[in-house]
Amino acid sequence: MNTPLFRADLHIHSRYSRATSTRLTPRNLAAWAAVKGLHVVGTGDITHARWRDSLRETLEWDEASGLYRLRNPRGFLDELPEFAHLERSVPPPLFMLQGEISSIYKRGGKVRRVHNLVYFPTLEAAEAFATRLGGIGNLESDGRPIVGLDSHDLLEMVLETAPGAFVVPAHIWTPWYSLFGSKSGFDSMQECFGDLTHEIFALETGLSSDPDMNRMWSALDAYRLVSNSDAHSGENLGREATLFSGTPSYLGIYNSLKYPETAGEGCSFLGTLEFFPEEGKYHLDGHRACNVVLEPEESRKRGGICPVCGKPLTLGVLYRVQELADRPAPIHQPGNTFASLVPLPELLGEILGVGAKSKKVGALYAKALHKFGSELDILQTIPTSELEKFHPALGESLHRMRSGQVTRKGGYDGEYGVVRVFSPQEQQSIRHGSLFASARPLFPHQE
Ligand SMILES: [Zn+2]
Ligand SMILES: [Zn+2]
Repeated sequence: MNTPLFRADLHIHSRYSRATSTRLTPRNLAAWAAVKGLHVVGTGDITHARWRDSLRETLEWDEASGLYRLRNPRGFLDELPEFAHLERSVPPPLFMLQGEISSIYKRGGKVRRVHNLVYFPTLEAAEAFATRLGGIGNLESDGRPIVGLDSHDLLEMVLETAPGAFVVPAHIWTPWYSLFGSKSGFDSMQECFGDLTHEIFALETGLSSDPDMNRMWSALDAYRLVSNSDAHSGENLGREATLFSGTPSYLGIYNSLKYPETAGEGCSFLGTLEFFPEEGKYHLDGHRACNVVLEPEESRKRGGICPVCGKPLTLGVLYRVQELADRPAPIHQPGNTFASLVPLPELLGEILGVGAKSKKVGALYAKALHKFGSELDILQTIPTSELEKFHPALGESLHRMRSGQVTRKGGYDGEYGVVRVFSPQEQQSIRHGSLFASARPLFPHQE
């Protein structure tokens, strides 16, 4: 029998974080997580008292997994009426208590801005941590609080809170707010975490990088590379996720990240589901306001200066990885895999020739899920031959996405990149019904 797999998205935000959807309640999150195909989802914003209140009301501790579950799972998809019919095919997710702390502090004569993810085994532990952190900064104005606490001291505080509590540096390459970011980060783990460096065992790599980039730097060999959505709305849940085999549990997730060689507690870390890194907002270098986007090589030639305004460029993730990398090619960890995905609404938008957020896409999305189950099942595992019977162009688009045959326009300075599976000409032919019109494969490479 095959060992079961599960997908976890362990960095999200609630309605109490800035610029998030006001609809993000625990039940809404549960519904979206199920629709997306996630088995474990972070709660987000665990340091926010009112969010903890709603979690306490809606969730209960699940003894078998050490995670949290909906107190009343019946009808949990009613939150999203268009998917209510999925209730029997997608189970409600388990919740892992999670928050993100924005630390802004001075170290080594420079201002550092680092985002760190924090995880706790129980609401009591989270409460105790929030009480301590609340003595340092205001936790109630933002679900992702800004505190003047050094990352090292934050880590120490988390470790002192409860056994099994841990820290994962968030989106480690983002220019403005991360461990290795070009604007205010560090050049090594040691510089940031000092004598507690060994207490960090996993790193979140963010949307603009993937394992092929990260594994160019031997300093990261000791770390599991995880991916999460950092979603600010239900629609974005699971756009990146981490894969495990076994049965979900708090200790299983913790141990498989910390001690990968001893796959303990019936759970192992397998790898990640990723964006194509070009689609992330900070892949390349540039200035959005100046309409300047540059590859790292070009930025280096220009001394990191914008050719339009003469100010320093926002150096992106690829630039920083190349700056710190010490290998000509990535060396991957044995047993780890990753897959690059494009969100299903974007693929459907290409096929229909409309925006990914349009009603037309929404209708076809619901229809596809009704037929096949969750979005990540469709993206990852449903055979293209099945998808093709549903919609000929969908089979072809999934085939191309899975084999990496996509065109990529890199994101930069906060602007998302664009990844497409069809050329403009092909898109036109699809709409005129002259491409992929027959159920018979037109492409010899069909799976
Ligand atoms: Zn962040
Ligand atoms: Zn400029």
